[in-house]
Amino acid sequence: MKYPKMREIKEAVISLVTHPYTSGFPAVEHVPFKDFRGKPVVDDDNCVGCETCANVCPPLAITFSDDKEKGIRTIRRDYGKCIFCGQCQEHCITGKGVKLSDTIYDLAVFDRTTNVEYQEKELLICESCGAVITTREHMKYLHRKLGPRAFSSILNLNILNRKLKLAGEGDITAETGDEMHRKDMFSIICPNCMRQVTVRYTFRSE
Ligand code: SF4
Ligand code: SF4
Repeated sequence: MKYPKMREIKEAVISLVTHPYTSGFPAVEHVPFKDFRGKPVVDDDNCVGCETCANVCPPLAITFSDDKEKGIRTIRRDYGKCIFCGQCQEHCITGKGVKLSDTIYDLAVFDRTTNVEYQEKELLICESCGAVITTREHMKYLHRKLGPRAFSSILNLNILNRKLKLAGEGDITAETGDEMHRKDMFSIICPNCMRQVTVRYTFRSE
C-alpha cells in the first residue's frame, strides 16, 4: 500500500511543475496543424446546387428538398453531423462550391440548430410532366463548361433559344396532358419526356 501512494504523490508533484500535454484552448488560441480539416465553407457564387455533395456525404449532413410549386431547391447543411471527411470538397463539380476551412474548428454550441446553414437555388422544371430537371445555375454551369458542344443536346438548344429570345415562352411551352406533340421537342422538357417525344415521332408522323 505504501509504494502506490508514494508513486501517486510523485506524479502529482511532477504534473504541478510541468506544462499540460494538451493545448491550453480555449484560454489560449489554438493553431490548427497543416492540412487541418475544419468546417466546410460554402461559396454560394460557385455552388450551382447540383446536389452532388449531398449524394456523397456519408452521415447525410447535407440534404436537399425541392419545392416544385415555388420552383426552389433548398440545400441544408448540418455541421453538427459533419465528420469532416472532405468528400463534399473532393466531389464538388465546380471545384469551388465548398471547401473545408483550415481555421474554423470551434463548432461547439448550446443550440444545435445554429450549426445548420441553408441555401436556395432556382429549379429548372419540365414543362410537360413537371419533373425537376436540375437547377438553372447547374444548367448554366454545364453550358459554360461544354461550350458549343452543349447544344448537341436539344434541351440546351431550347434553353438557348429562350435566352436569345428566338422563341417566346408561349410559343414553345409544352402542353400538359397525356398526349405529347412533336412541337414539345422544342420545349424545355426532362430527358424522360424528350425520349417519349423522340420515340413517338421518329417512327410516325403526327
Ligand atoms: S466534410 Fe464529409 S461529412 Fe462534412 S459535409 Fe462534407 S461530405 Fe458531409
Ligand atoms: S457539389 Fe458543389 S456545386 Fe454541387 S451543390 Fe455541392 S457545393 Fe454546390
